[in-house]
Amino acid sequence: MNSLLDMTTVLISLVIGNLFTLLLVFLYRQKDGIDRSSRTFFAAKVLQSAVWAYYGIFGKALDLFSILFGNTVLFLGIALETSAILMLLGRFTPLMKRFYIGLSAVSIVGFQLVALSGLDEEARTLVASLLFILFVPAPAYLLLSQRKQSLLKGMMGALYAAAVVLLVGRVTAVGIFGINMGLLSPNLFQTVSFLGLYLLMILGNTGFALMSKEKTDGELLRWASLDDLTGVMNRRAFGEAAEKTISGLKKAGQPFSFILFDIDEFKAINDEFGHDAGDRVLQHLTAEIKGRLGSEDLFGRFGGDEFAILLPGQNEERSRGTAERLRSAIESASFEGLPLRYTISLGVVTIEPNKTVQLSQLYKWSDLALYDAKKKGRNQVANNVSV
Ligand code: GH3
Ligand code: MG
Repeated sequence: MNSLLDMTTVLISLVIGNLFTLLLVFLYRQKDGIDRSSRTFFAAKVLQSAVWAYYGIFGKALDLFSILFGNTVLFLGIALETSAILMLLGRFTPLMKRFYIGLSAVSIVGFQLVALSGLDEEARTLVASLLFILFVPAPAYLLLSQRKQSLLKGMMGALYAAAVVLLVGRVTAVGIFGINMGLLSPNLFQTVSFLGLYLLMILGNTGFALMSKEKTDGELLRWASLDDLTGVMNRRAFGEAAEKTISGLKKAGQPFSFILFDIDEFKAINDEFGHDAGDRVLQHLTAEIKGRLGSEDLFGRFGGDEFAILLPGQNEERSRGTAERLRSAIESASFEGLPLRYTISLGVVTIEPNKTVQLSQLYKWSDLALYDAKKKGRNQVANNVSV
């Protein structure tokens, strides 16, 4: 049985597959707008497709100029593709940018020198494959290092690592076994490596589109979870996070405390200094509080000038200390730009280990405590220890 594929067919399939997945991605991204990393990825795929199409059509009679030009475009293509991945990961730093520009220049010039020095096709394949390998480790490593947060990124990292293996295989085939890997040579290694490339292309394009969607979804979720003005969690997001945390604490047999607090006489601040100044007070307050909470604590805006904090692991005594520290920090904080000081009142509820409690109940109890603090003259902490 002849297991060898006609290389022209493989190359044309590569082009059609590439263009078709690109079209799908393009139509899909159309409505969200196309970001920088997607545009860069597109440019990479268009360049690569153009070269594969040219090789597929004219591959049987390529002159030196076509080889030089084709490889130059392929180097630019891989540089853009890997840069697009780094952009998507937010890791396309100025240093990375310089690295990829430098690597592209070295690859293009290096390959031209090798080709013009009269070395044969095998030596050219060897050098080109070695140079291509250098583009891939950075995105492969960064994708793999994020596999815990996203299985998709892990899979894409593995895919790029597989591309390195494929290229190393080509280098080994040419360099050690002397197998002819000239473009259209129909041998088993060539067929396997181009089919591998085809698979990488399909999975890589689809994976990129999904990663790009994953990023947009993540941004949307973040945007929908945060309060516009202060940037802390909104009530819905706080509620979800709190319920998860509370059930974990119950399983672990740990106590926790819940604080509801509210700015004193905030209406008067708005009336005297204006609504914008009131907004700045809310932003100032959240920044001051956030800076004083631990990494496990949850903090959200419930609406208006009312905020909530969940303190995992804090019993009554500790949470009272925390609430008192927050109260006194706000009382003595200076507020730049306006001659005003403001204070907060806090209601604290502590839940002993292994007790089951609904968030709505916590809110009710802490609201009662907060009401108590207001009644007693504001700028103070009140506890509801009946639980
Ligand atoms: P108390 O000490 O009893 O809490 O008195 P208070 O004046 O603070 O009363 P209350 O908490 O009921 O008032 C909340 C005020 O917060 C009413 C509303 O005008 C104002 N407010 C709610 N949301 C915003 C906002 O986003 N920006 C500004 N500037 N003001 C807001
Ligand atoms: Mg108030």
